[in-house]
Amino acid sequence: MAGGEKNSFSTPYFLVDEKKLVKNLEILKQVSDRTGCKILLAQKAFSMFYAYPLLRKYLAGTTASGLYEAKLGHENFGGETHVFSPAYREEEFEELLQYADDVVFNSPGQVRKYAKKAKLAGKSVGLRINPECSTQEGHAIYDPCAPFSRLGTTLENFDESLLPLLDGLHFHTLCEQGADALEITLKAVEEKFGKYLSRMKWLNLGGGHHITREDYDVEALAEMVKRLKETYGVEVYLEPGEAVVLQAGFLVSEVLEVVHNGMDIAILDTSAACHMPDVLEMPYRPPVKDSGLPGEKACTVRLAGPTCLAGDVIGDYSFDTPLKPGDQVVLEDMALYTMVKTNTFNGMPLPDIVWEGIDGKRKLVKKFGYEDFKNRLS
Ligand SMILES: *Cc1c(COP(=O)(O)O)cnc(C)c1O
Repeated sequence: MAGGEKNSFSTPYFLVDEKKLVKNLEILKQVSDRTGCKILLAQKAFSMFYAYPLLRKYLAGTTASGLYEAKLGHENFGGETHVFSPAYREEEFEELLQYADDVVFNSPGQVRKYAKKAKLAGKSVGLRINPECSTQEGHAIYDPCAPFSRLGTTLENFDESLLPLLDGLHFHTLCEQGADALEITLKAVEEKFGKYLSRMKWLNLGGGHHITREDYDVEALAEMVKRLKETYGVEVYLEPGEAVVLQAGFLVSEVLEVVHNGMDIAILDTSAACHMPDVLEMPYRPPVKDSGLPGEKACTVRLAGPTCLAGDVIGDYSFDTPLKPGDQVVLEDMALYTMVKTNTFNGMPLPDIVWEGIDGKRKLVKKFGYEDFKNRLS
């Protein structure tokens, strides 16, 4: 991120860095060029449609979680539009078919209800499977293979009589994981569902692949994709969200006040609850520019939001000098699962959105105001 230019935009604002974004996109493009797989943007992680024309140069299309994302992707991104939903609404399905190219169902019941309609409209039809293979610890809310999961059809529930309706299979079981976890998952998928794979046109490996992380084994991923294509004659899709915008965005905020209660506590103009809910939901401690762990640098301080929620705490950090009102605090890796999750609880303003181009120039892309708060209410 280019430095300086403080006060040219009013905080808080999201800052998306084109240079960092392009770095990720080039890695993803290399993977698809080398292996012949198709990579889709999972819009649920990042729906900044201002960036879609750029992303489209590198990616094959988008995937959606329902009607609205499908419409956004179809109208603003182009390429292929895929959609998966645990259950579709009857009154929306017709419209959905105007936008989606590939429709993925979650259960045999949904296939029975909708697949013929989708086929008649010329769509490719898939079923999400659940290989019942958990490869992650710690983040149970992100594990679609956890016991009693509603996501995906288990082998026990697979209905072979529906095979003639299916063009593809889809699984999504990973979260911020490496190629090693995919390898374990693929083994389970092939053991359970391998017998159906040669009858399919495509296999979608979902998201959660941290492909653009420095230590990701791109070589291993490429080998797996190639092997799947050769063994089963399928087209292979990946639909990462996080990996597309990993480390490509910031949330720039300012200190409003510093209070003391057993420790220094800086009240920022940005809120964990409203602007980065994953900090509380996941939970995790986001990286902050020029900071250390508590005690690591001279001045330890808790960063907290301006809402009434006692738990609106971002985390404990240390800085070289004490924070004071007016100081800028830059939260890092804030492009993913932030803009798509903001809310106006407590009447909090939504952060504006700023774009930093390759040339280092910054531009206000979106300004939010009182009306955005009011329009969600009645
Ligand atoms: C969330 C999700 C993705 C994207 O996951 P990331 O962890 O952001 O890569 C892809 N596909 C499906 C079905 C999802 O639910």
